[in-house]
Amino acid sequence: MAILDIVTFPDPFLRLKAKEVKKFDKELQNLINDMFETMRAEPGVGLAAPQIGQSLKLVVIEYAEEPEEEDAPMPKPKRYVLVNPEIVERSEEMVEGMEGCLSVPGLVGMVNRHEAITVKALTRHGKPQKVKADGWMARIIQHEMDHLDGVLYVDRASEVYERVLDDEDEEVEE
Ligand code: ZN
Repeated sequence: MAILDIVTFPDPFLRLKAKEVKKFDKELQNLINDMFETMRAEPGVGLAAPQIGQSLKLVVIEYAEEPEEEDAPMPKPKRYVLVNPEIVERSEEMVEGMEGCLSVPGLVGMVNRHEAITVKALTRHGKPQKVKADGWMARIIQHEMDHLDGVLYVDRASEVYERVLDDEDEEVEE
């Protein structure tokens, strides 16, 4: 496995529309493994193929929802590989939340997203799958799928801030 370089703003590559994945070969499996490794190394919770210089409709996500009770153990992260994803249902309800992006270092911004979505996609082996998500997971999926259309969260953000971190802080980076 290998850690890949992240393409950063304002590289025009991030503005391209990604192409459909057609081959589910060894090369794709290696790419997906490398994307997981790269995302964990950063660390981030989601990564889209255009962010590592591949114009492909491919997203990986790994995110553990914070438990509601303070002392509860962190649940196992949910892990998704979404190939050629398409949003087929969107809640009318929209929610604002703070997003960051590995391709836009140093900034965070408030973005309005659908609270819940249903996505049709293929698995890493080309099998159909349907993913229903709400809350943060729905936000992460919408953020990553925007990358496949050449859209960055800063295009949608109502406000963008410089990111100020202390040691305790953990921002969600996508
Ligand atoms: Zn991003």
